[in-house]
Amino acid sequence: MESVVTTYGDLLKDPRWQRKRLEIFQRDDFACQHCGAKHKTLNIHHTKYVGEYPWQTPDKYLLTLCEDSHKIETNLKWCDIIQALDNAGVTRTVVFKIIQRYFFGTPN
Ligand SMILES: [Zn+2]
Repeated sequence: MESVVTTYGDLLKDPRWQRKRLEIFQRDDFACQHCGAKHKTLNIHHTKYVGEYPWQTPDKYLLTLCEDSHKIETNLKWCDIIQALDNAGVTRTVVFKIIQRYFFGTPN
């Protein structure tokens, strides 16, 4: 595809994402939408990814969460994914390869 590697972290530094992020924080009154915390580091949680770039996701799929709630939400999601793959008969070895690729990228 492209010769320049753009990581997800790079994309989150993009001004278009920074602006979108601020809009969502303002909409959510700078409070975690799960626990109500206002004085913790806030993250934007994607409930769904739409489009190629993080800022293309419609606002309704973006949620302000504190770091702790975000961690819980993300882990819950992995539990659901692992459960679904288990139910589909995918072996744990394959499941963890998928997860490793998600976290650490594709080995070249
Ligand atoms: Zn929270």
